[in-house]
Amino acid sequence: MSNAPTNASAAHLIDGKALSETVRNSLRSRIAVAGRPVRLDALLVGDDRAAGIYAMNQASTCAEVGIEYVLHRLPAGASADDIAGRVLLLNVDDAVRALMVHLPLPEAVDTERIQSLISPDKDVEGVNPANIGNVVYGRRSLVPCTALATLEMIESTGIQLRGKRCVVVGASNIVGKPIAVLLMRTEATVHSTNKFTPDLPALCRTCDVVIAACGVPQLLKADWIKPGAVVIDVGINRIDGPDGKKITVGDVDFAAVRGIAGWISPVPGGVGPMTVAMLLRNVVDAALR
Ligand code: NAD
Repeated sequence: MSNAPTNASAAHLIDGKALSETVRNSLRSRIAVAGRPVRLDALLVGDDRAAGIYAMNQASTCAEVGIEYVLHRLPAGASADDIAGRVLLLNVDDAVRALMVHLPLPEAVDTERIQSLISPDKDVEGVNPANIGNVVYGRRSLVPCTALATLEMIESTGIQLRGKRCVVVGASNIVGKPIAVLLMRTEATVHSTNKFTPDLPALCRTCDVVIAACGVPQLLKADWIKPGAVVIDVGINRIDGPDGKKITVGDVDFAAVRGIAGWISPVPGGVGPMTVAMLLRNVVDAALR
C-alpha cells in the first residue's frame, strides 16, 4: 500500500498523485458515459515562458483524460480592454463551456477585474468573486481548485471533520480563505490565521487538522503539531538544497513533522497533483452540466 508508514512512528502519507489518478480515472469514465465532447478553453496573454510551458503541459494533461484543449492567445501588448473583450466573447460562445485565463497577465492589467468577467458557469478555476461567494453560501458552484484538493485530501484519511478543530495558516483570497470556508461548511471549528496571528505554534498545537498555506518554506515545525493530527501542506517553495541545487519544499518541515503527525501530505506529490485533478473535475462538471 503506497500510503503505509515506513516506520511505526511516522505519519501515514496522503499520496496526492495516487488520489489524483483515481479522480482522473473517474473523469475518463464520466466523459465516456456522457458521449459528448468535453473541452477546456484557456486564454494566454503574452509570451511568459513559464505560463507557456504550463499551458503546453495542461494540453497533454487534458488529452490524457479525453478533454479537448483550445488555447487562445493574445500578444504581450494586449490592453486590459483587449483581454476583457476576448473573455466576453468566449463567455457568449456556446461551444465554450469551461474557461480559464492563464496568469500572469501584463503588469498594467487588473487581474481581479479580468477574473470577475469570466462567466461564473464557465469559471473552472473558481476565481470569479461570484463563485467564491457561492462557496460561503454553500451553493452548487465551481470551487477554487486548491481548496477542493485540500478537502479531498483530508477526507481521504476517513476523519470526520464535524466537531474537529482545524487551523488554516494563511488567508489569501484564492487559497487560505476558501479552504477555511469549505472546512466551516463541514461544521468543523476553524481558525483562519495570518502573519499577524499571535502565538501561532500554540494555536496549531490544539488542532486536529492543520493546513499550511502561507508560502513560507518549512515554517511549521514538529512542536507546532498535536500528535496524530492531519497535516496538509499546500505550500510550493523553491529553495536551495544541501548541494546548492534548487529543490521544491512545502510550508511544513516535512522530515520533522512526519514523526509526530498522524497523516501528512508531501511536497511535491501532495496538493499539487490533486489541484490539477480538481481543475479537470471542474472542467467536466462545467461541460456536462
Ligand atoms: P499569499 O502570499 O497570497 O498569502 C499568504 C498568506 O499567508 C497571507 O494570508 C499571509 O498573511 C500568510 N502568512 C505569511 N507569512 C506567514 C507567517 N509567517 N505566519 C502565518 N501566516 C503567514 O500566498 P498564496 O497565493 O495563498 O499561496 C500560499 C502558498 O500556497 C504558496 O507557497 C503557494 O506557492 C502555494 N500554492 C499552492 C497551490 C497548489 O496547488 N498546491 C496553489 C496555489 C498556491
